[in-house]
Amino acid sequence: MRVMVTGGAGFIGSHLIDALLKRGDNVVVIDNLSSGKLSFIQDHINDGNVEHINHDLTNLEGMAQHFEGIEMVFHLAANADIRLGTQITDTDLRHGTVATYNVLESMRLTGVDKIVFASSSVVYGENAPMPTPETYGPTIPISLYGASKLAAEGLIGSWVGTFGFQAWVFRFANIIGERGTHGVIFDFINKLNATPNRLEVLGNGLQEKSYMEVKECVTSILHVVEHTDLPFNLCNLGSVDTISVRQIAETVVEETGYHDALIDYTGGDRGWAGDIPRARLAIDKLNQLGYIPSMNSKEAVRHTVRALIKEIGLR
Ligand code: NAD
Repeated sequence: MRVMVTGGAGFIGSHLIDALLKRGDNVVVIDNLSSGKLSFIQDHINDGNVEHINHDLTNLEGMAQHFEGIEMVFHLAANADIRLGTQITDTDLRHGTVATYNVLESMRLTGVDKIVFASSSVVYGENAPMPTPETYGPTIPISLYGASKLAAEGLIGSWVGTFGFQAWVFRFANIIGERGTHGVIFDFINKLNATPNRLEVLGNGLQEKSYMEVKECVTSILHVVEHTDLPFNLCNLGSVDTISVRQIAETVVEETGYHDALIDYTGGDRGWAGDIPRARLAIDKLNQLGYIPSMNSKEAVRHTVRALIKEIGLR
């Protein structure tokens, strides 16, 4: 199958491409490399299995031509820096909402009608019951990033209802693993490398969330797409448990060997404005569809800490 992966040079996108190529797909990537790295997919480009188009999805002009002959679009491109979105407040609007509109419109213009979308648990907002099922509502996100994800879901639903598209929307927990370029574990390792005797942790460390290993994330996406066939398919992706930021900090200190590091909490119940301190998704639907993640949050965190130490190195 010839597929498009937007954001394919990114962390999750590049792992998705590995899996798509394994099943024999031919992949076109649109990525402006704002947070992605061409090196993640360079071998596949050299082998002739992946074509990379450097285009900014906020610009509809000249975009549709790249969708000719595509059978399914995996739309993963988005602003990865959630905190930046609070300073430059149209960041998520442009790279989340407008970019999704431009992808959908390019698809409509070229007759491509299947889309897979990377949404997030943050659409559920702050007061959702835990674990949160897909049926929970009303969904009231508290971050600009969350608002852009929910808006994108709405646009996708409207393209399904109005133009007969078929969609798979995945609400991800925190996704971690090899090639991570952002997020709490990446930050902690880099902070410890800079100041081995001190690890500053945003918030009081009691924030508790669920983490899923990236290869399991992409395997479960492909599994669910294969096993569902409604016009609009919605599925949470995560693991069964949670881990606190404090436990993650302790794991990073332990695995890096910076045992003298003082863990210094900035205080407050959350890391930044718009952060949701506690999140756990119900993954019954994923399980019922036949996919059981093999790692829980704690295992995924330890696995990722070890992998990222190898990638980043210790000073
Ligand atoms: P990432 O930053 O590694 O990947 C995003 C990619 O999109 C990057 O390669 C970037 O260069 C590209 N991109 C961004 N804006 C673009 C634009 N305007 N035009 C073209 N390309 C653009 O992030 P990731 O962690 O791999 O996330 C992938 C998707 O999954 C995103 O939509 C993200 O919101 C979603 N998601 C991620 C997590 C997580 O924990 N990593 C959790 C929930 C949802």
